[in-house]
Amino acid sequence: MSPPAPPFPEPVEARHEKGARRLVLTWDDGHVSPFPLDYLRSWCPCATCQGHAPEAKYLDLENQELVHIDGVGNYALALNWADGHNTGIYSFRLLRHLCPCDACGGEKR
Ligand SMILES: [Zn+2]
Ligand SMILES: [Zn+2]
Repeated sequence: MSPPAPPFPEPVEARHEKGARRLVLTWDDGHVSPFPLDYLRSWCPCATCQGHAPEAKYLDLENQELVHIDGVGNYALALNWADGHNTGIYSFRLLRHLCPCDACGGEKR
């Protein structure tokens, strides 16, 4: 048996604001994370984007469009992008870590 996971916050709502080009997550602790789409895509955690570098790198992509969001189990979101890229599995823990709001210290680059 694996040990129980720590109680990380989980998103209760994911809202794609097409006009503002951002994905807004609302968390079960009341926190709100407004992710610009380019910012989110630039942190894609998949092996294609990240290779085997020991540290995650910021890709600095532009003009990224989100077409669909899937839940993955109860621990992550899979983001489907307009260019067909869909292998990025963003764990809730990663998403919360990347939160770009002022209270979380702004965007991580
Ligand atoms: Zn990727
Ligand atoms: Zn935040």
